[in-house]
Amino acid sequence: MSAAGHRHIAGRLVIATHNSGKLREMRELLALYGVDAISADEMRLSEPEETGATFRANARIKADAAARISALPAFADDSGLVVDALDGAPGIHSARWAGPDRNFRRAMEAIEQQLRARGATKPEQRKAHFVSALCVAWPDGHVEEFEARVDGTLVFPPRGDQGFGYDPMFLPDGHTRTFGEMSSDEKHSLPPKGKGLSHRARAFMKLAEACLA
Ligand code: IMP
Repeated sequence: MSAAGHRHIAGRLVIATHNSGKLREMRELLALYGVDAISADEMRLSEPEETGATFRANARIKADAAARISALPAFADDSGLVVDALDGAPGIHSARWAGPDRNFRRAMEAIEQQLRARGATKPEQRKAHFVSALCVAWPDGHVEEFEARVDGTLVFPPRGDQGFGYDPMFLPDGHTRTFGEMSSDEKHSLPPKGKGLSHRARAFMKLAEACLA
């Protein structure tokens, strides 16, 4: 246990994701702290159904399942885009809006269509935020959970071809370029160079402070 009562992550950790982009990002972040991460694919773990009603619940379902099957601590993330004018959609269904072929151009067009249908054309009517919920679960049932967000405005047409998902449509507050126009270093802006910008970087910083040396 650390001073604040959080459990420390030591030794090997399973990353409960089958998404290669997320896996690479998480592995890089954990390697900075000397954590040896193995992927759910390498462990041949199957993916549980994400039946939770919140990002936090879904991250927990994934981490818990991987920890129980592998008998190792497991780490999972659930994330998505929450649009104010669309009553929080796509939210936990962010991946689903892109369809089986993961077409995010189409998903961004669908968001734009719905914003227009509601007359949301001014920037202040187009506020949105990304959320990242992280969960580390141990085989004995202990969990550590962290969540963070980044606020911004949705632009159309999408700008930039870096990042993934809804990045080209998302202009973070205080910036002039979308996540799609930023390098991954800039999007995350991790310390010591930055103060943390992306939802995932901000959530990871909380986790690192609580559970990593
Ligand atoms: P899940 O966490 O795997 O259920 O899916 C999250 C979905 O939210 C992704 O497929 C993206 O559509 C979206 N998303 C989450 N984080 C980001 C991000 O940093 N940039 C762009 N889209 C994101």
